Amino acid sequence: MNKLAFIDEALADLREKGLYNTIRTVESSVGAWVTIEGKRVLNMCSNNYLGFANDPRLCEAAKRAIDQFGVGPGAVRSIAGTMSLHVELEECIARFKGTEAALSVQSGLNTNLAVIPLLMDKEDILFTDELNHASIIDGVRLSKAQRAIYPHRDVDGLARFLEENKGIAKKLIITDGVFSMDGDLAPLPGIADVAEKYGAMIMVDDAHGEGVLGRNGRGIVDHFHLHGRVDIECGTMSKAFGVMGGYIAGSAKIVEYLRQRARPFLFSSAATPPDVAACIAAIGILEASDEPVRKLWDNARAFKSALKDLGYDIGVSETPITPVMLGEASTAWDFSKALFAEGVFATAIAFPTVPRGKARIRVMLSAAHSGEDLNFAIDRFAKVGRRLGVIR
Ligand SMILES: *Cc1c(COP(=O)(O)O)cnc(C)c1O
Repeated sequence: MNKLAFIDEALADLREKGLYNTIRTVESSVGAWVTIEGKRVLNMCSNNYLGFANDPRLCEAAKRAIDQFGVGPGAVRSIAGTMSLHVELEECIARFKGTEAALSVQSGLNTNLAVIPLLMDKEDILFTDELNHASIIDGVRLSKAQRAIYPHRDVDGLARFLEENKGIAKKLIITDGVFSMDGDLAPLPGIADVAEKYGAMIMVDDAHGEGVLGRNGRGIVDHFHLHGRVDIECGTMSKAFGVMGGYIAGSAKIVEYLRQRARPFLFSSAATPPDVAACIAAIGILEASDEPVRKLWDNARAFKSALKDLGYDIGVSETPITPVMLGEASTAWDFSKALFAEGVFATAIAFPTVPRGKARIRVMLSAAHSGEDLNFAIDRFAKVGRRLGVIR
């Protein structure tokens, strides 16, 4: 008997439906250009917004940390002690975000697993945007709380759910700050207003907002001037910050509770010394200068306007996330392959990551791109789009 026949079937099903993902192997550091299968290609699909993933200043900080602290933390912090490096990172994050305190965990995904099940029990209720990130959905699934899934970015819809459930004492509204597939923003000022009216806590996952929005990349709360009105900001060090790790920023009280009880903090080891040191260096660069963030936005504006001029539908993005809408998954896969042949690496994104019929190439701009790089990409998008009949 073949116990694993169900896996053969599932994989065959993915292949049949065109959903089987072949992951490319990158043979270089992640910069504006990467080497893939021996070929140098322009990288238009990483989340390396500020070019920090191979920044020499971050690399140098990581090397120094290895010399001083080694490569591993030894065990979970609550048992083996916390390295001064982790404490320093948490102080940096809190200062950067303008919150009382912060906690560092291993990844952005883990921030949601840390916060949501800890704060929300079965007599409580969660309000969550229907397009929230998979890691929020997993955090919600780990909690026994009731849940109300409100229509995407719909503050009135959210307010109706709050009204219907106003008898429930503990309420938490959770939203992505920037929605990663479309690049649109959570209506955070409106959410803050209704949250205050109904006494609900707010948690925003700022994974695509930090390093991108706000003063020097301080994120969506800073962008909307909502300091003190959002209870929990969480996010990742793996996107604009270019490294790896997650953080949760908020009041000293919330952070203290997480440190005592959050399961990813208690049962999974801390981030490694080189990772943590590189994160500290990234925040230091942003505190000293808004140059990387300005360059990112200049690149995004220039590239988006060129794509529009070519006749592309680039959706409703308000950020450097640039979805090039192509409709059918097969068109998006063909487009991505043709771009690759022309020297541009940009992956197709299709169902189930986005709805059926809304397949796209999601272009991610970076401060690492030069003007020449953007011209190269625009030229290739023009050529491939005409050849495939997407534009005229
Ligand atoms: C990317 C992302 C994460 C995951 O971050 P990792 O550090 O890679 O685990 C979590 N939440 C949102 C909204 C994201 O976009």
